Amino acid sequence: MSQRRKILIAGAGLGGLTAAGLLLQAGYDVDVYEQAPALGEVGAGIQVSANASRVLRHLGVQEALEEVAVRPERTEFRLFDTAEVISTIPLGKPHEDRFGAPYYHVYRPDLHSILANRVEE
Ligand SMILES: Cc1cc2nc3c(=O)[nH]c(=O)nc-3n(C[C@H](O)[C@H](O)[C@H](O)COP(=O)(O)OP(=O)(O)OC[C@H]3O[C@@H](n4cnc5c(N)ncnc54)[C@H](O)[C@@H]3O)c2cc1C
Repeated sequence: MSQRRKILIAGAGLGGLTAAGLLLQAGYDVDVYEQAPALGEVGAGIQVSANASRVLRHLGVQEALEEVAVRPERTEFRLFDTAEVISTIPLGKPHEDRFGAPYYHVYRPDLHSILANRVEE
């Protein structure tokens, strides 16, 4: 007789919550343990490239992400003194076409809340 596996995750950061959400979605029994007295993230931004946004889409949070994230069109490298553009990395549609999922910039606490809400659901 197969037994339902219990999975314990130490840490409710971006990684721990994403893992928890996907494992719950796959039917596992998951408990997440966080040492901090309150859930939270530092107030900085995070780049979410296609390898990560594909996982977030699979987790069912793309719609929520679209509400708070931006899709930058490109990264530009400029000379510090003249601002001349010396290199460009296309993002936006070229990134999505090439890698099969979007590229976002998002405020870390917003992404963390989205993941925490998904796990709580
Ligand atoms: C400056 C910087 C910029 C970055 N920029 C990007 C980026 O642009 N794009 C990108 O994809 N990645 C980026 N990263 C990497 C990304 O932030 C990390 O990969 C991600 O946050 C890791 O998530 P995590 O849940 O594994 O760890 P963390 O977010 O570090 O969370 C760990 C959690 O575990 C808790 N914890 C620790 N020990 C215990 C314990 N014993 N018991 C219970 N809880 C515990 C902590 O309190 C914490 O809440 C960046 C990282 C840094 C430092």
